Amino acid sequence: MEIAIIGGGIAGLTAALALRKQGIKSVVYERAMQLNEIGAGIWLQPNALKVLDYLGVKDSILKDAVQLDRVDITNRQLNPFQSGNGVVQDKKGNKIVSIHRGKLQKILVEALPNDALKLGHDLRSFTQSAGKVDLHFESISLKADYVLAADGINSRIRQALFPLSSLRHSGQTCWRGISAIQVPEELRNLGREAWGNKVRFGFSQVSDDLVYWFAVAEANAQVEVDRAIVKKELNEKFKNFHPLVQQIISNTDAEKIIGGDILDLGRLDHWHMQNICLLGDAAHATTPNMGQGAGQGIEDAYVIAKLFSKLQPSEKIFEEFETLRRKKVDYVVNNSWRFGKMAHSSVGQFVMKLVMKMTPQFVVNKQLEQLYKLPNI
Ligand SMILES: Cc1cc2nc3c(=O)[nH]c(=O)nc-3n(C[C@H](O)[C@H](O)[C@H](O)COP(=O)(O)OP(=O)(O)OC[C@H]3O[C@@H](n4cnc5c(N)ncnc54)[C@H](O)[C@@H]3O)c2cc1C
Repeated sequence: MEIAIIGGGIAGLTAALALRKQGIKSVVYERAMQLNEIGAGIWLQPNALKVLDYLGVKDSILKDAVQLDRVDITNRQLNPFQSGNGVVQDKKGNKIVSIHRGKLQKILVEALPNDALKLGHDLRSFTQSAGKVDLHFESISLKADYVLAADGINSRIRQALFPLSSLRHSGQTCWRGISAIQVPEELRNLGREAWGNKVRFGFSQVSDDLVYWFAVAEANAQVEVDRAIVKKELNEKFKNFHPLVQQIISNTDAEKIIGGDILDLGRLDHWHMQNICLLGDAAHATTPNMGQGAGQGIEDAYVIAKLFSKLQPSEKIFEEFETLRRKKVDYVVNNSWRFGKMAHSSVGQFVMKLVMKMTPQFVVNKQLEQLYKLPNI
């Protein structure tokens, strides 16, 4: 059985690892010629960690990451709105992990055998017939029995299968970077997201001497701007925030600041067609407000691999996959969208602060338990 995975991002690489765990071979086709240590940071929550543990890569991740006791929403001066100071973790003690994306990707790649990843393979088109998929890359064509399309938010495969699918612009834009700085000891194992007037700034340590940060502001589509100007503008936008925010921005190499609008994908009626199934952002890209986008792609990988092992290969796998994954994905996408909107409205902020203050810790824990739970398969 030939399984081709298109896209070597977090979802695609994790899917290949998860299939291997079931004794099923697959090949990941990635268009990039090489996987550089680019990108900023990422927060992985316990649901993702559980899967990565099952796949045998959690220890390597922990070696290269900083574990966070929790991520707090705060005012401009970094004082949390919620008084709770408990550690957020699942029953197995998995906390939130803050890691450089490049390092995470390297760990996933190194866990795969060499022949399981083909770089420089940009999928241009495909056809489905007689139970096979013909995949056409720039210089070669291949046949596969099943295709897992993990080609990201702008998925070419999704656009071909479901041409009516569309992205939603949130009206917000985001800048991300890595700063050569250490936060004070008392913040070392905490994530912070500070809210101002239609602007937000989040950060956490990702290694001993590097901090990952993101800055969100209202905007229409971002235009390409000199990064030195971006850095200056960010310092200006956040000038009335805690001085640490200014220091974090100032200690960032401007050339490495990454920009992008905050988008999600309108809900698709289906994620599969015959023997092709979308995974990760290709299927259900979410706004980053809940820090769950990659986590959901990682859960997809876990579920689909288990189903390949459990069910006779057939279209049933993909139907079952949708059944098992829909509810949680919808919950994340919808709540993340709502959360982003509320964070940028004064009424919304008022309501959110009230909810944060009033919600008892046991209720929050119950909600997190649901979010961090993996399906029983
Ligand atoms: C600002 C921001 C902050 C975020 N923070 C978090 C966070 O803290 N925690 C979290 O869990 N999630 C977070 N996310 C979401 C997370 O980044 C994504 O959900 C995740 O990276 C998606 O992984 P993916 O593998 O599905 O897609 P991608 O990472 O987009 O990977 C797709 C891959 O497919 C390749 N590809 C595309 N087209 C082709 C083709 N035609 N042929 C071959 N290869 C192709 C691409 O080169 C790429 O490598 C954040 C997102 C944003 C925008």
